[in-house]
Amino acid sequence: MELSKRQEEIIEIVKANGPITGENIAEHLHLTRATLRPDLAILTMAGFLDARPRVGYFYTGKTGNELLTEQVKKLKAHEYQHVPIVVKESASVYDAISTMFLEDVGTLFVIDDKACLAGVLSRKDLLRASIGKQDLNSIPVHIIMTRMPNITVCRKEDPLVDVAQNLINKQIDGIPVVKDTDSGLEVVGRITKTTITKAFVELVLGDHI
Ligand code: ADP
Repeated sequence: MELSKRQEEIIEIVKANGPITGENIAEHLHLTRATLRPDLAILTMAGFLDARPRVGYFYTGKTGNELLTEQVKKLKAHEYQHVPIVVKESASVYDAISTMFLEDVGTLFVIDDKACLAGVLSRKDLLRASIGKQDLNSIPVHIIMTRMPNITVCRKEDPLVDVAQNLINKQIDGIPVVKDTDSGLEVVGRITKTTITKAFVELVLGDHI
């Protein structure tokens, strides 16, 4: 986050004199308390300053980098998840390939007859199945998918950074966001490498903070 010159000055005053009241900071800068109010609010919200009632403002000692790290760690999977694209276990490889093109995704989630997560299909799974001479209309996806329980999943309250780490560690492109039900795992969202890239750009441009 880019600080204005006045905000930098406020931080320096609080560093040297804190705890200090808003009134006193204003005196240092020869401004009114009202003029400073938005800057103090921004600096407090961003975590540079802390405000204690009847004591005043003090410097938290956190650098811009530490504050950014704190904010990134607070991001949850459900804040960034996209709509999951699913196919049934009985769908053919041909149908799955068509769905992948139509929906413009690289990972499909496969669901069983109770609408619960049964497997995952990646681009390469479908390519591999297409290399042979078999009729793609007659091979059901459950034959070629990566199946439960070997699916890496996440839940909506999981930190986005943990999901990103799993994408890297497991060398996969997508992870389903699931909800536990009596019949199994219901697929409620998807986090992919694109999701993480978008989150990164949004963070830097300041949209989500
Ligand atoms: P691709 O290899 O097509 O670029 P991935 O790296 O996502 O795509 O997939 C590699 C393998 O891992 C595939 O066989 C796929 O079925 C499997 N896979 C993909 N996502 C998951 C997941 N969330 N959990 C377990 N296995 C997965």
